[in-house]
Amino acid sequence: MRQFYVFFMKIFQDRRSLSDWVASRQQQNKSIGFVPTMGALHRGHISLIENSLRDNDFTICSVFVNPTQFNDSKDLEKYPRTQKADIEILEKNNCDAVFFPTIEEMYPNGTKTRSYSFDGIENEMEGKYRPGHFDGVATIVHKLFELTRPTRAYFGQKDFQQLRIVQTLCAQIENAPEIIGVPIYREADGLAMSSRNCLLTPQHREAAPLIYQCLTKAKEMTATHSVQEIRQEIENAFSKSDLELEYFLISEEQQLKSIENWTDFPTARGFIAAYAGKVRLIDNLKLK
Ligand code: AMP
Repeated sequence: MRQFYVFFMKIFQDRRSLSDWVASRQQQNKSIGFVPTMGALHRGHISLIENSLRDNDFTICSVFVNPTQFNDSKDLEKYPRTQKADIEILEKNNCDAVFFPTIEEMYPNGTKTRSYSFDGIENEMEGKYRPGHFDGVATIVHKLFELTRPTRAYFGQKDFQQLRIVQTLCAQIENAPEIIGVPIYREADGLAMSSRNCLLTPQHREAAPLIYQCLTKAKEMTATHSVQEIRQEIENAFSKSDLELEYFLISEEQQLKSIENWTDFPTARGFIAAYAGKVRLIDNLKLK
């Protein structure tokens, strides 16, 4: 059995020892909070851990760069991997256990995805630009739920579409945990924290807060301007910047369909995906 202690935090690399640990907690009727991540942990991830620690008897974090959710092999290759620092951060923040599986451990029969239906949510926004992405996300989340059997699982609103996909997944699987959406944690200048931020050049790091500035501008304009006027304003701002806008969409919050009129839906959210050089950044903000 491969497992070892760093102070009080358990570190698991194989499914069997993780499952045994979970089973013994469940026999004692303890609640388990689960925080799946791809590592290179930052303050945003820690806010998920803090929520889980507050709500549950035990908290498990997983760190796994899931190959099936990457449609760009270069993006997968350059994704930051900082295992030692991640362990230190989790330990310092009182996480009870971390799971660092290998690809073979999670995909013993090859990196195949399961297929799901998400009511069309998977085809909007990220789904259009990252084909197959959400089947990869749902496959790994489902496998990790089967292993960790959590009472609650924590996902950031930073990946709002992913959060909706996971909520939809939970409506179709057995023993689904309660899904908790956690607000976006930002740098002082508004840039949403992301593991990819460390890949930004100084020039692109300086330009990147434009994403949040545009989302807040869109929110300010919501009461007085049409969806089309706001879209024009945001596209203009990006055209004058060092960032390349992939999409700016105003969408309703359930099916994530883009909206053309404010009156069509009671709530709406602005979504941006943009390239800062080769680094793809996403962010979103509730507009109404
Ligand atoms: P990742 O490691 O990027 O796959 O993210 C793991 C989890 O952390 C996902 O549920 C993300 O939505 C969440 N997350 C990432 N960045 C942030 C952030 N800045 N604020 C809140 N949650 C975040």
